[in-house]
Amino acid sequence: MHEYSLACEIFEQVISTAEAHGALEVRHVILEMGRLAHANPEQLSFCFKAIAEGSIAENAEFIVEMIQPSLECECGYTGTLDKTQAGKDDELLSELLEYISALECPICGKNARITGGRELIIKSIDIETEVEK
Ligand SMILES: [Zn+2]
Repeated sequence: MHEYSLACEIFEQVISTAEAHGALEVRHVILEMGRLAHANPEQLSFCFKAIAEGSIAENAEFIVEMIQPSLECECGYTGTLDKTQAGKDDELLSELLEYISALECPICGKNARITGGRELIIKSIDIETEVEK
């Protein structure tokens, strides 16, 4: 499963970062995920929890923030791509964008490059370094 291997990578990064900071517990993991990253946030969260069981990240809250794809055109236009612009719903849009790398610019009508939306980044990790009294 795609999400499982992604969750493994995220888990390893979280643990190594947390341990480098002397964490006793990981409380939050905030992940930024582009709409085009082709991962299901719920499945990712589920896999992460399964992998983290028994580790210091066992009780961590796993938060996924979605990032909209962005467009950049040679006319100077930059913007985020939303579903009203593309006239498609989210799921169709992600499928569509898998096959194309440019969309019509809303300003000049030329092909605007899709510049973002595939990222999968650990935005922040909230750790506990002292035992709570
Ligand atoms: Zn343009």
